[in-house]
Amino acid sequence: MEHGALNLNSSPSAQPHMRYEDALWNAVCMRLRVVLGEDVYRSWLKPIQLDMIDDDCARLSLPTRFIRDWVHNHYSSALVDALSQEDERIRSIDLIIQARPNNDVASSVPAPIALEVITPEADAAPDMGASLDPRYTFDRFVVGKPNELAYAAAKRIADSSEALVGCNPLFLYGGVGLGKTHLMHAIAWHVRLHHPQRRVVYLSAEQFMYQFIKALQSRDTLAFKEQFRSVDVLMVDDVQFISGKDSTQEEFFHTFNALVEQNKQLVISADRSPTDLSGIEERIRSRLAWGLVADIHTTSFELRYGILESKVAQQSITVPRDVLEFLARRITSNVRELEGALTRVVAQADMLGMPVTLEGTQILLQDLLRSCDRRVSIEDIQKFVADYYRVKVSDMFSPRRSVSVARPRQVAMYLSKILTDKSLPEIGRKFGGKDHTTVMHAVKRITDFIHNDPELREDVERIQRMMGA
Ligand code: ADP
Ligand code: MG
Repeated sequence: MEHGALNLNSSPSAQPHMRYEDALWNAVCMRLRVVLGEDVYRSWLKPIQLDMIDDDCARLSLPTRFIRDWVHNHYSSALVDALSQEDERIRSIDLIIQARPNNDVASSVPAPIALEVITPEADAAPDMGASLDPRYTFDRFVVGKPNELAYAAAKRIADSSEALVGCNPLFLYGGVGLGKTHLMHAIAWHVRLHHPQRRVVYLSAEQFMYQFIKALQSRDTLAFKEQFRSVDVLMVDDVQFISGKDSTQEEFFHTFNALVEQNKQLVISADRSPTDLSGIEERIRSRLAWGLVADIHTTSFELRYGILESKVAQQSITVPRDVLEFLARRITSNVRELEGALTRVVAQADMLGMPVTLEGTQILLQDLLRSCDRRVSIEDIQKFVADYYRVKVSDMFSPRRSVSVARPRQVAMYLSKILTDKSLPEIGRKFGGKDHTTVMHAVKRITDFIHNDPELREDVERIQRMMGA
């Protein structure tokens, strides 16, 4: 087909006389909505237009410098991926700023300042920035060693009728799927029930940021701060998304400070500790750690087992102990996956009208477990890394020393060391016969970088996620 993989006929949004670029962009947007979620799509990607394709480069225009920089820093690789999946010619993107009066970002979200419009579900939850999951309550949160501090702090805040000096802000942090969002929603539910006069707002950092940027654009940051005056408890989820070099970050945290000074209770979550929030100024980081920093640790076997037991009890289903134990032992990544596995097991037994058994569980979860245990090969790693950095796979074996190929090669060596059980000499051989000291050096370099260079750490994490490792 003339235009790569995009099938215009089957694309629901393609119309007869539509420009190819527009049809392609529609298809890409559909992908991105799924991959990045509706919030991200509406805030950052909707204002983008695909102007033209020049050789292997797609030229995208964005309405403001701020949005351009943000998209560049956060979504470049997602954009390139989605574009090249729809049109295989595309290998890179070029982001330009082009103000478009009637396609301004303002049209994607109406009336930015009033708090209630942050969510389309304002009717269901008039006091909330974003809607709350009814399942995320304290009584459904299983407490164990790894999360007891976070739970206790969240509970105290929810029970209190005013901001808690020692816990303001409460900074919750922990890896994906360990219950941060659950605890924040639980605070909100609890306060609504027990202190209905207190106004609670929960929203994602991206939503908060978006509101803020809108205020900056309309030169109305005062009104932005003003709208939070009536709020008693403000919760902002996943603030790691705010890190970056933008000058707005500074303003953003000033707003935070102002709220604490006005005696508002703040609850913040992130996937890492305040000290590890790279790209955020030291002064601001230490301010975030001013109140209580509560770390949610990775789950223990006991906690995983307890969570499974509680899920089973809630649904009044019968699952034998050995199955629960098997799941708790084998699915260690995070609680979300654990829940997902239990749901699959129960659904299958239900569908077949048979009891849940260990054998049935093992067969059903074969793929999932295999992918948990899966060992990636060095060849896979080389391919993914080359792909990610857009260098040739052959550069992985070559003696070239320019940074543009040496760095990806070091990343690949590093990943080979941590994701496979191959020895240093074996790894060296797979990289064009390099000495084991070269591999050792690469592993050390990248390990250092991961601690000191947020960009590189993100790259490595992303590659790992792409590989499903
Ligand atoms: P995070 O925000 O840290 O990524 P979530 O709060 O979204 O994680 O939790 C992921 C899933 O795991 C949710 O369905 C949540 O209810 C569940 N979960 C996490 N921790 C617990 C726990 N201690 N007890 C019960 N359910 C939990
Ligand atoms: Mg979360």
